[in-house]
Amino acid sequence: MVNINKFSNIFHVNDKNVFFEKVSNAEFENVKIKNRNYLFIDQKVIEKLAEKAFFQISHFLRSSHLKKLQNILKDKNASDNDKYIAHTLLKNANVAAGGILPMCQDTGTAIVLAKKGNQILTNGKDIDSLSKGILKCYKNNNLRYSQMSATSMYEEINTKNNLPAQIEIMNEGDSNEYKFYFIAKGGGSANKTFFYQGTPSLLKSKNLESYLMEKIMTIGTSACPPYHLAVVIGGLSAEMNLKTLKLASSHFLDTLPKKGNKSGLAFRDVGMEKSILKKTIELKIGAQFGGKYFCHDVRVIRLPRHGASLPISIGVSCGADRQALAKINSKGVFLEKLEKNPARFLPKIKTNILSKKEIKIDLDKPIKETLKELSKLKIKTRVSLSGTMIVARDIAHSKLKNRLDNGKKLPDYFLNHPIYYAGPAKTPKGYNTGSFGPTTAGRMDSFVEKFQSEGASLIMLAKGNRSSVVRESCKKYSGFYLGSIGGPGAVLAANNIKDVKCIDYPELGMEAIWKIKVINFPAFLIIDNKGNDFYSNLIN
Ligand code: SF4
Repeated sequence: MVNINKFSNIFHVNDKNVFFEKVSNAEFENVKIKNRNYLFIDQKVIEKLAEKAFFQISHFLRSSHLKKLQNILKDKNASDNDKYIAHTLLKNANVAAGGILPMCQDTGTAIVLAKKGNQILTNGKDIDSLSKGILKCYKNNNLRYSQMSATSMYEEINTKNNLPAQIEIMNEGDSNEYKFYFIAKGGGSANKTFFYQGTPSLLKSKNLESYLMEKIMTIGTSACPPYHLAVVIGGLSAEMNLKTLKLASSHFLDTLPKKGNKSGLAFRDVGMEKSILKKTIELKIGAQFGGKYFCHDVRVIRLPRHGASLPISIGVSCGADRQALAKINSKGVFLEKLEKNPARFLPKIKTNILSKKEIKIDLDKPIKETLKELSKLKIKTRVSLSGTMIVARDIAHSKLKNRLDNGKKLPDYFLNHPIYYAGPAKTPKGYNTGSFGPTTAGRMDSFVEKFQSEGASLIMLAKGNRSSVVRESCKKYSGFYLGSIGGPGAVLAANNIKDVKCIDYPELGMEAIWKIKVINFPAFLIIDNKGNDFYSNLIN
């Protein structure tokens, strides 16, 4: 007789190592039906839990994540740039923990995966209550609305509340517990999810790791490393593979067994995890600007598969490593305890060590003079920017390009100032701005040549590596691309962005065009006007 149980549960995980805190004293009614005890949970409890969870993950990180950033600062072999990034991200965590500025301006798509035990009863519709809690959280806090609804194939409108959320509720079987995974996933890191239909021969030839490393290199730096990198090999479908990837990159599958068996058990290949981590160090991409910390850690999950298929996926959790487990049972409502005092991970180091070799750039001089100054610098030089910049991202770029296509000129503000690719979160009362870090530069690559040929976008500031089109254009039109540190939206808002004014397309919300004043805004020279690109030898 086949033991069905053996085959039905592929994922053997537990939450024994997770420290939960009680977040509500709600008391639940016990209901007896046909001699079985059921727990009745009111919808309000579910709504409040979702609201609290998304607030917490927008502002607080796991202690384990902060510890990894601290370890970079202690590592003698970490590069100066690795340390500078780690220190900035730790400072960012401190600002965010104030509960006013979220850790990143991209406060993400709200994702909830839940498992409901058979002995849990609820009134109403759980998905609606979770959505209501998410809506309240995004409405009542300084988070960003990032979700676009398509009104036709080519027309979209921001939903202005960050809904819809991705919510899935599964059955947990015979249990009187309701479990939740809450994740806020930013666009930049979600875009670095890659799926491949590999051929089973990859397993036979034993060259799987080289295959994976080729793909891992292409992730680049635009999703704000150091990464929590995840790789999933196998899966009974593409969808199963990708869902496993999301859970693995969030460390929700850390307790999987370390060995496979004959009945389809999912397991972690820790040997391959170590080997891939070592290889990511050898890439020398580092934590954004060269060094050893491209990744904090690696998870490799092996799943059962159809004999003819080998689904493979690669993904990351970024600098805004935002997730938390939660559960409701007869003892109360519990949420994973996140770190409320990140300052304890910030070692006392002399900040002048971190800011050595920093070149001050005054952006309020005529742009031609600033271009001359940049022209004297070598790529990878750290600069500190002060003065006026224009902020525009995807939709604003399309609108400006349309002006050119319709025979109109580009506005003067776009010609006279450097351009920062970004979109702010809501401005808290009494603050100059909301969280306001850079967005992925690569999405604006297709606009660069056209704009530079018109005398605009000659100094660009954003995050991540760019395509060769930008390098060539900068060489041709004497332009520069400066890389800003990806991830520290809160600390940039608190310390470096002093004045923010919407100057065009206010109807676009966070995608509008803004004029900002910055002070000591940190960046690195990545592409110069001589055809040099810091990333070109590191990332294919
Ligand atoms: S840290 Fe970077 S990749 Fe992550 S959500 Fe923020 S901007 Fe996106």
